[in-house]
Amino acid sequence: MFANLSDRITASFKQVRGKGRLSEADIDATVSEIRRALLEADVALPVVRQFTANVRQQAKEAVASQALNPGQQLIKIVNDELVEILGGAARDLHLAKNPPTVIMLAGLQGAGKTTLAGKLGRWLREQGHTPLLVASDLQRPNAVNQLQIVGERAGVPVWAPEPGNGVGDPVQVARTGLAHAQDKQYSAVVVDTAGRLGVDTEMMQQAIDIRDAVDPHEILFVLDAMIGQDAVHTAEAFRDGVGFTGVVLSKLDGDARGGAALSVATVTGQPVLFASTGEKVTDFERFHADRMASRILDMGDVLTLIEQAERAFDADEAEELAGKLAGDGDFTLQDFLAQLQQLRKMGSMKKMLGMLPGMGQMREQLESFDEREVDRVEAIVRSMTPAERTNPKILNGSRRQRIARGSGTTVTEINALMDRFDKAKTMMRQMARNGGPGGMGGVPG
Ligand code: GDP
Repeated sequence: MFANLSDRITASFKQVRGKGRLSEADIDATVSEIRRALLEADVALPVVRQFTANVRQQAKEAVASQALNPGQQLIKIVNDELVEILGGAARDLHLAKNPPTVIMLAGLQGAGKTTLAGKLGRWLREQGHTPLLVASDLQRPNAVNQLQIVGERAGVPVWAPEPGNGVGDPVQVARTGLAHAQDKQYSAVVVDTAGRLGVDTEMMQQAIDIRDAVDPHEILFVLDAMIGQDAVHTAEAFRDGVGFTGVVLSKLDGDARGGAALSVATVTGQPVLFASTGEKVTDFERFHADRMASRILDMGDVLTLIEQAERAFDADEAEELAGKLAGDGDFTLQDFLAQLQQLRKMGSMKKMLGMLPGMGQMREQLESFDEREVDRVEAIVRSMTPAERTNPKILNGSRRQRIARGSGTTVTEINALMDRFDKAKTMMRQMARNGGPGGMGGVPG
């Protein structure tokens, strides 16, 4: 998402980056270019207007005050203003003084609510909550079943209507779900609700009725970032209908222009709290305006990367690995396999690489990154015996042939992997000695 926007804005900086002095004409040219890029990305017009007016004014002030490195200054101004339209500093979820905290999800059908319920449930669990998901979407034929599946994946129980338990009445399901949560002392309740393909009064009334029945601490409006211009209109309809306290942007992994989603915080005055970036229950993160701005300006999002690493990594295991790397070099292929599996828990390799600074310029290589390459590496190591994994020196020609057959690869691939493994091992040892990121270092592949 935002690849095009990102390219255009970073390109517009090229002309000013190295300049010792900026003229008003330089500023006007850059701001116009950014303005066009934002409009083309579907950012709402009033938001674009506000953005460009603010940037232009601040940039001119910076030039007038003869600030050092005005090009860099301009980038900072654009960054800060981008953070502003994305809703500024992140806030935490509103939690109930007396649990359970009730979180209601609202949005159009297909926005990603049910998927989000699972992601949010898992996230809440990680935060130390005991969440319950409540299936109040009885509109879509398969929604209850789908929620049960995502609940299972997330390891979070689901309250669903049973015969005699309010079948067909979503308000009743929400009410009994909440009562159950109170009774069993769940600390958080996530209520999934029905959406239609377009905003309609009946659907909005149902959301309002559910809201009034469970009195939520947060109503999260789930917005499909791929729906383009309609996003703003839909957000306004929900704001004026059931109302909401925060936004979740879903499908941010798509390659649509996505700019409308960038406008939603400014247009509705409610912050974006979370981002959904894929179909898996782990494709989910807190939304931080400053990090999103950094990503758009291709300055990378290392903080999110580190957080995901922290979530996926088992601290003890990571420490043990770092110790091995720094120590007498007994880092084996067995350890490598363990490390690879931990990395994979963080989600797609491609997505992780995309968060590194400067990756915008390498987008083509990134696009051609083949996730299956990692599968092949894993298959190779799995086809080795424990002895081979601890002591790769014994890998002679016939062993390599056997491994190639077992893993469905070729001897050439195995040779290449072993070569890279040796190199990576040396590199990681150096990083670990220098107090580098330890267990996270260089994956051969
Ligand atoms: P609901 O009708 O609002 O409950 O929407 P669903 O949760 O059923 O999602 C609709 C479709 O979008 C499903 O196929 C999901 O797998 C998919 N989906 C949801 N969130 C994301 C996301 O962040 N990225 C992508 N690529 N797909 C998503």
